[in-house]
Amino acid sequence: SEERSLNFIEEIIENDLNSGKYATLITRFPPEPNGYLHIGHAKAICLNFGLTKKYGGYTNLRFDDTNPVTEKTEYVNSQQEDIKWLGFQWKNELYTSDYFDTLYDYAVDLIKKDLAYVDHSTAEEIAALKGTPTEPGIGSTYRNRSVEENLDLFSRMKNGEFEDGICTLRAKIDMASPNMLMRDPILYRIKHAAHHRTGDKWCIYPMYDFAHGQSDSMETITHSICTLEYVSHRELYDWLIEKLGIFPSKQYEFARLNLSYTVMSKRKLLQLVNEDFVSGWNDPRMPTISGLRRRGYTPESIREFCDRIGIAKRENLIELGLLEFCVREHLNKTATRVMAVLDPIKLVITNYQKDQTEILIGENNPEAEDKGGTREIPFSNELWIEREDFMEEPAKKWFRLAPGSMVRLKHAYIVKCEDFKKDAEGNVTEIHCTYIPDTKSGADTSGINVKGTIHWVSRQHAKNAEIRLYDRLFTVESPDAEEGDFKDYLNPNSIEVIKQAYIEPYMSNASKDIRYQFIRKGYYCLDDDSTPELLIFNRTVSLKDAWAK
Ligand code: ATP
Ligand code: MG
Ligand code: MG
Repeated sequence: SEERSLNFIEEIIENDLNSGKYATLITRFPPEPNGYLHIGHAKAICLNFGLTKKYGGYTNLRFDDTNPVTEKTEYVNSQQEDIKWLGFQWKNELYTSDYFDTLYDYAVDLIKKDLAYVDHSTAEEIAALKGTPTEPGIGSTYRNRSVEENLDLFSRMKNGEFEDGICTLRAKIDMASPNMLMRDPILYRIKHAAHHRTGDKWCIYPMYDFAHGQSDSMETITHSICTLEYVSHRELYDWLIEKLGIFPSKQYEFARLNLSYTVMSKRKLLQLVNEDFVSGWNDPRMPTISGLRRRGYTPESIREFCDRIGIAKRENLIELGLLEFCVREHLNKTATRVMAVLDPIKLVITNYQKDQTEILIGENNPEAEDKGGTREIPFSNELWIEREDFMEEPAKKWFRLAPGSMVRLKHAYIVKCEDFKKDAEGNVTEIHCTYIPDTKSGADTSGINVKGTIHWVSRQHAKNAEIRLYDRLFTVESPDAEEGDFKDYLNPNSIEVIKQAYIEPYMSNASKDIRYQFIRKGYYCLDDDSTPELLIFNRTVSLKDAWAK
């Protein structure tokens, strides 16, 4: 990633800094506190904060809280937590609602310049006169109200004299503009609703287009970076700044992140939460930062993902597999290796003394530079192994257990399968082996070579664990693009719960801060629901890409 070439925004910034246009780079991340942040926001966070990390200057966190109906303090708090968790620190914590007084003054200024008017048309009337992209619109009958009348009406709007929807404040620009957004856009609407911060102080609220650029300007944001949907808003952004004569922030647009098998709008994610398709915003299947965190993703892996996908000017669809690749790569370097048996079958070592416990030593992470230290693993005559590691009638090139075959038990001994038992239905219930004493791992003097190594846990020492396996939340690549409701494409098998797994006793001290590799099985982390009595783990990702095309 160090050698990657500059993206187009970095090129603009380097030019602006080199030419002396700006002395200091100032960016902002402006979430609306109407939900939890998702992986798409992570891209915008990494971009905005990453730029000021690289070029100096700073990034503000601005809550774009102009819609009182959908915004909540819970969301403000979660959004802050998620940004910090990703590894970024903002300079100033700001709220668009703190600018309501200044924005009101700006609106009055526009009215005085005869560049805004109060319109008593209904929403339907406004739409009907708007024209089409190929036909000019028609000015409202209220368009030529006098400055005095507009000042009076706007202050009465503010003072609560009108019900919701009675009138709006509109910019007076150009009803024939080829850009529909320039055809007298609405700047303020009446909404008698309590705001999460300003309470009942206001009953008029600024529209996005009137709030965003002016807030950028007040903060002297040099590069206001947003997604491509806002390309057509740029003309209005520049018009308002110019007419108000305020600091000229500039807007730049990049392609939003679209991820396969995922929906990525807070509004849709909220539906999944409210309609109980998931357990909450931080359900490990959700593409939210909090869901990914609970699932076991690391900040490093998400930053790496954002770096790899890059910044482009054209929309595309990124493979979910790339996100999984990034976490797998990071966890391979950092995860503590332990043994867990997810589908247990009993293995009895017939020539090992019954009441004996032997303590074996396991390396925690052969991939780490310091090998991650070691841990103690108890061994005894009765073990749990994975059902799939035994075949009654072995296939060709089967190197695991079968009647008469030998395998190495990881960190322990080589065993030979002597016999097995079945129940009335023909299911194998028990495997009998003998062990070869001089094959102990690290001290093997036997000269015996076996091709297979399997994991195990000692039956009397094992801890019971619940393990939650996850799959994609949707069955189609682009749920948004399908016919009908996106929820029709939810994957009914996105979660599988294993109640009776067994895990090394070392894991009774498992920590949420540590990521684990269950040897041969995948990467796992302790779930928030876990208790000392019942350990619960989430599978972050399998060891290999299980659904690569
Ligand atoms: P949502 O539909 O999820 O609510 P939004 O754009 O309305 O998306 P905001 O809270 O307004 O959400 O977004 C804050 C910032 O994050 C904006 O600058 C926005 O452009 C950026 N952002 C949102 N979604 C994505 C995405 N999928 N990819 C990149 N950036 C995004
Ligand atoms: Mg938004
Ligand atoms: Mg939104």
